[in-house]
Amino acid sequence: MLSQKKSVPFPNIYKLRKLAQSDAKSCFICYKPTVSVLVTLKSLNYSELDFFYICESHLLDKNFCSSRFLSDDIDNLEENKEIELKIENLKLEKLKLSEKCIKLEKLVNDENGIGINKIVGYFNKKEKGKNLKPEPDGDGNTDGDTEVKDKDKSKPTLDNKEKLNSIKKEIELKTLELQKLEIKYKKFQLDMNYYQLRLKKYNEILKKKEHAKKLQDPSFFPSVKDLPKPGEQVLILKNNDDENDI
Ligand SMILES: [Zn+2]
Repeated sequence: MLSQKKSVPFPNIYKLRKLAQSDAKSCFICYKPTVSVLVTLKSLNYSELDFFYICESHLLDKNFCSSRFLSDDIDNLEENKEIELKIENLKLEKLKLSEKCIKLEKLVNDENGIGINKIVGYFNKKEKGKNLKPEPDGDGNTDGDTEVKDKDKSKPTLDNKEKLNSIKKEIELKTLELQKLEIKYKKFQLDMNYYQLRLKKYNEILKKKEHAKKLQDPSFFPSVKDLPKPGEQVLILKNNDDENDI
């Protein structure tokens, strides 16, 4: 059977972690000190982990990464499919409610239009006559009486207003639910160019480590006959000292 291991050492799925202020190090992108770190999640399909320091502002840049919503167990495909579906559905429901809300808002505004114009008209009148004594109308009434008349004429559209309020509340609830899920499951997928950079960096570190290991291994140097190998020289000297001591 073929191995499940992927050809790359770590997955392109990172989780954001925050460290203490004293642990700040330079950002992978702009080199400014930051305490935020992106860390890959453990997976049976990958042999290594990756992490790097990053300013949180870069996480909003679509050219750097995109958001994914997954559990910490990235191998649990079924659970992750459910999470993504749940979030997608919530977004869709919210969108439908928002469309409904816009239509209702327009309806309520249209219905209130006459009443609002009357009120605006009333205040304009009041503004004009601010420094004047209220003069009686043709029938002997003052402006104060006109207000009562206008109020009676503008009919409140309670049904649509109530509907609008309940939709707004529903949108609020959906938004909160969505935010909770997004915070809980948010992960980051790097843009391919940046993921390649991380892989390149990993390979460079790996090479350096291998090179350092080789340098410490005496058999790495070409053997010259009659000359002790670098490791042995110390050993021989040490043995001689021991003999002198006895
Ligand atoms: Zn930065």
